Amino acid sequence: MEPRSGRWFPTINPATEEQLSEVSEALKADVDRAVTAAASAQESWGRLKPSRRARYIFRISRLLQERSRELAVVESLDGGKPIKESRDVDIPLAAAHFFYYAGWADKLEWAFPNRRPRPVGVCGQVIPWNFPLLMLAWKIAPALAAGNTVVLKPAETTPLSALLFAEICQQADLPPGVVNIITGAGKTGSLLVSHPDVKKVAFTGSTEVGKLIQKAVAGTGKHLSLELGGKAANIVFDDAPLDQAVEGIINGIFFNQGHVCCAGSRLLVQESVAELLLAKLRDRVDTLRVGDPLDKNTDVGAINSRAQLEKIQGLVESGLEEGAEIYQPPCELPAKGFWFRPTIFTNVSQSHRIAREEIFGPVLSVLTFRTPAEAVEKANNTPYGLSAGVWTEKGSRILWMTERLRAGVVWANTYNRFDPTSPFGGYKESGFGREGGLHGLLPYLGLN
Ligand code: NAD
Repeated sequence: MEPRSGRWFPTINPATEEQLSEVSEALKADVDRAVTAAASAQESWGRLKPSRRARYIFRISRLLQERSRELAVVESLDGGKPIKESRDVDIPLAAAHFFYYAGWADKLEWAFPNRRPRPVGVCGQVIPWNFPLLMLAWKIAPALAAGNTVVLKPAETTPLSALLFAEICQQADLPPGVVNIITGAGKTGSLLVSHPDVKKVAFTGSTEVGKLIQKAVAGTGKHLSLELGGKAANIVFDDAPLDQAVEGIINGIFFNQGHVCCAGSRLLVQESVAELLLAKLRDRVDTLRVGDPLDKNTDVGAINSRAQLEKIQGLVESGLEEGAEIYQPPCELPAKGFWFRPTIFTNVSQSHRIAREEIFGPVLSVLTFRTPAEAVEKANNTPYGLSAGVWTEKGSRILWMTERLRAGVVWANTYNRFDPTSPFGGYKESGFGREGGLHGLLPYLGLN
């Protein structure tokens, strides 16, 4: 649609730096138009027979499945992620979220017995660039199931799959105004979250912007949920199956180039097996294929943007200056585009920036520990609290650890597993509110 702002911005392929498209920049008049459309559709959508609402959401899920190839290619072109990840993870999981929440639409009264669930109204949703369609699904599916209408803004570097999603909503015959997609950068996001007719704000992104949004909505009575950054510990005990742990460590930090809020970016390994584990890890890193995101064999794709690449380079530089030792496999990188080699830092201490700050790139910081208590202390020594991993053969130790780790999700002998039925979210500076599962409906409902 022509923007009232009259402004457009380019979106590029980070693997080639070629422009893919021009996208409209929504400013005040466009944000007003989208919110007004959502507000006008709210009453009839909220009053629609729940089983009919469910039918629309199921239809969206089926269309996502039918158009999965196209969506996977667009996601990889626009964002730089390997096609095997967009094809096997992002798109199927996005469809699964709509499928799952469609099932709740006509069961809300049973989900919250003796309460009267009702929609909260227009939802303003802002998402980041690391899992564009999946983050959209996490936000739109529960909002629609609960009877709300939405205005969603994708990140400025990855707007294309959300625009295809708008087309899918039309294909599903969703009533006009129920889902509205606006594109633009931070200014657009801030206009959306502070719009007076938006009743619920859902944000996924950096802790820094999350804090700005929390300030902007304070005192307005708007519902708010924040999914922010992380600096997760992936903890390997000496009795863990080491080869399996190596796969989990690789997946934990190099999946999606490490652009993952719950990435296992701090490896905590028990001292007695550290040397052996690190030797195995280096061998495995040497086999990773870095390059063309559209090649089915690629393991690590392009960094999402030049700005993100510079942020990663800056933090890696700080690691070297502070005395950590770096290991990078000798892989060749394409001449054009934004690339960063998988990187492992050893000799890292807790005070190093690379052990404290979220790098959001393919960079692992390795620390060691001697006792389970020391592992817990180091794992929790972070302002974040989103996720953690524990690798051990002892079931009792897994339970002992999970009771003590301040993390919203703890994976045991696996990492980065997602399921629409399972709530996800953080503590401390990782935000509040949960997405997924029954808990994921709560931010979108008023309960009398
Ligand atoms: P970001 O905070 O810069 O941007 C996220 C979104 O917010 C984008 O759409 C952006 O345009 C918008 N935005 C920017 N300024 C805004 C403002 N003032 N008001 C409203 N909207 C604004 O983050 P990013 O760099 O795009 O994403 C990376 C961050 O997201 C990482 O820190 C990562 O940990 C976090 N993240 C968290 C989760 C989670 O579920 N916890 C998931 C994915 C990413």
